[in-house]
Amino acid sequence: MEKRRMKKLNVTTSLLGFGCMRFPLDESGKINRPVSEAMLLDAYRSGVNYFDTAYSYHNSESESFIGDVLAQLPRESYYLATKFPSWMLKKTSDVREIFDIQLSRLKKDYVDFYLIHTLNQGFWEKTLSLGVIEECERLKKEGKIRYLGFSFHDSYEVFEKIIKAYPWDFCQIQLNYMDTEEQAGMKGYELAESLGIPVVVMEPVKGGSLARLPEDVSSVLSAVDPDASPSSWALRWVGSLPNVKVVLSGMSAPEQVRENCSIFERFEPLNDREHDAIQKASEIFRKRIRNGCTGCKYCMPCPAGVNIPENFKIWNEYGMFENIDHTRWSWNEALPADAKPDRCVECGQCEAACPQGLSIIEDLKTLQAEIEKAIR
Ligand code: SF4
Ligand code: SF4
Repeated sequence: MEKRRMKKLNVTTSLLGFGCMRFPLDESGKINRPVSEAMLLDAYRSGVNYFDTAYSYHNSESESFIGDVLAQLPRESYYLATKFPSWMLKKTSDVREIFDIQLSRLKKDYVDFYLIHTLNQGFWEKTLSLGVIEECERLKKEGKIRYLGFSFHDSYEVFEKIIKAYPWDFCQIQLNYMDTEEQAGMKGYELAESLGIPVVVMEPVKGGSLARLPEDVSSVLSAVDPDASPSSWALRWVGSLPNVKVVLSGMSAPEQVRENCSIFERFEPLNDREHDAIQKASEIFRKRIRNGCTGCKYCMPCPAGVNIPENFKIWNEYGMFENIDHTRWSWNEALPADAKPDRCVECGQCEAACPQGLSIIEDLKTLQAEIEKAIR
C-alpha cells in the first residue's frame, strides 16, 4: 500500500483513505453492518490506515458503526478522522458538547484528525466569531484532538483567506482532473503546498462521474492503457500530486475496496504520456459543455427566483459526464422547484448583465426540456 508522510505532523498515512459515508445499506436503509465491516477490515488488512467519517454521515450512524469496528484493532494502528458539523454551530459551548457526543459514539479517547466540516464564507465567519478554533485548541491541549483541519466548499478566494488565517495541521479539498479550477482547485492545492500544509483530497472521482466515461473520452485513455479502469486514472491523477497525503474514496461495495486497494498497492504516479492522455480527455469533456456560464452570478438575483447559474451548472455537467443518476439527483433534490427555468418571466434583466453574452432565456428553455427528457 502506497504511504505518504505528513512532514509537518510526523505522521505516515496510507495514500488511500476510507471515506465512511457510502456504506452499503440493508433493507431498512441502515448501514449493512456485516458487509460494511468486512469492507473496512479488508481495507485495513491491505494497509489502509486512514478512516474518515463525520457527525452527519449515514444519518449520524457512521461514527458509532466505525467506532465498533475499529475497536477490534490496536488504537495506534490507524488514524481516525471526523468532523465538527459547522451548520449546527449556534454558540461556543456547542463545540465541546458535540465533540463529546462524537467521542462517545466513536468509543475512543481521542480523534487523530478533527475537521471543521464544509467551511465556506458564512461558516467561516461563525467559526471566527464564536471562537471554534480556540475551543478546538483547548481540546488539543487535553489530548482529545491530535490534529486540527477543515474541509472546504467555496471559491478559491475564500480558501485563501481561511488557510492563511491559522496554522492548520492539514486541510481537505475537493480535487480531481476535471475540478482543477473549481472551488480551491489547483491554485488552492499549490497554496497549501507552499504553506507546508498537507492535503487530504475528497471527490477524486467527482462523485462517480469520472468512473463511467463517455465513449469519446474513454477511447483516449484506453489507447494508452486498455486495461486501466476510468476510476484508476482519476485516482492516480490525484495521487500523483506529492502534497496529497490521503485520497479519500467513499467505498460502497466489497469489489470497490478490492479494486481501489489493488490500485494503491501497486501505485505509480502518472508518466508524461499518461498526463497527456488525461489532458486530452479533459479537453474533450470541456467541449461537451452546453454553454459558457462561468458561475459569476452577475445575472443574480433573478426577480422570478430562477437560480440561473445552478441550472446551467447541472446542464453543463450533464453534457460533460452524462451521469444520469447525478443529474436526476441535482435536478430533483438539490434544485428547488421555484428555482427552475419555467419560473422565468422573460424580463431580460439577466441577459443584459451577463458578461458572457449568453442567450439565457433560450438556454433555460432548452435545458429544462433536455434534462427532463434525460432523467425521465
Ligand atoms: S429573463 Fe427570466 S431568468 Fe432572466 S432575470 Fe428575467 S425572469 Fe429571471
Ligand atoms: S451572468 Fe452569465 S456567466 Fe455569469 S452566472 Fe449568470 S449566466 Fe452564468
